[in-house]
Amino acid sequence: MRYRDDIIFRMRKPVIAGNWKMFKLLQESVDAALQLKPLVANANHCDVVIAPVFTALKTVADRLEGSNIQIAAQDCAIQNDFGAHTGEVAPVMLKDAGSSHVIIGHSERRQFYGETDESVNWKTMATLAAGLTAIVCVGEKLEERDAGNAETVVKTQLEGGLSGLTANDLERIIIAYEPVWAIGTGKTATPEQAQEMHGFIRNCLNESHGNETAENVRVLYGGSVKPDNISTLMSQPDVDGALVGGASLEAESFAKIVNYK
Ligand code: PEP
Repeated sequence: MRYRDDIIFRMRKPVIAGNWKMFKLLQESVDAALQLKPLVANANHCDVVIAPVFTALKTVADRLEGSNIQIAAQDCAIQNDFGAHTGEVAPVMLKDAGSSHVIIGHSERRQFYGETDESVNWKTMATLAAGLTAIVCVGEKLEERDAGNAETVVKTQLEGGLSGLTANDLERIIIAYEPVWAIGTGKTATPEQAQEMHGFIRNCLNESHGNETAENVRVLYGGSVKPDNISTLMSQPDVDGALVGGASLEAESFAKIVNYK
């Protein structure tokens, strides 16, 4: 299947995902979701995903039932076994609450909540086992880029996070490349920088899982994506969409990003 995207044809259907982080109460989440719904109703060119906080997942999912907006959780437990895991939420429970996707290994979780490549790997496996799609985040810090280590860092994160996964598993994996220095800073990677790293990620996937798999995995860019820079980012051949933080909080600006064409 090829996707008509203005004058270029894409092999991969773009994904535009909004990460609402810990910004909205329940009613605010519902209001934003209902505002967004008509604004993106005709967006057949891409998958539209929003990630509310855990406490709003079920209500937002119910209110969006039948729409083209899919729901992501922002994190999950490392396994699906019910039991004594205080504070954890299993992927199977997120599915039960209406989620189809889980964001895993976001840089904020890596930086502030002890997320490691190993826990990313466990969470990814648990997410796939529950039948959900994993959005696995990778990305280097500024000092790592300045030291010339950006590719090594990203490759290590990919190898660790996707360890043991088969080519079949990768059908339900989306990679989000989010350079840490671009998240919430207003500094976006240039389209060329994004393309360079996305191409590198696809090469890594080619080495680990073969060309066909690598060509099918969607690689999103994240880091200060806004309505005014989405089109140039999307014009890059290996940029298959965006994971959007700040600009996803307002329905209108997120809708502009979704309707970037
Ligand atoms: C994010 O949190 O994943 C993100 C990319 O944030 P922002 O768009 O605000 O930089």
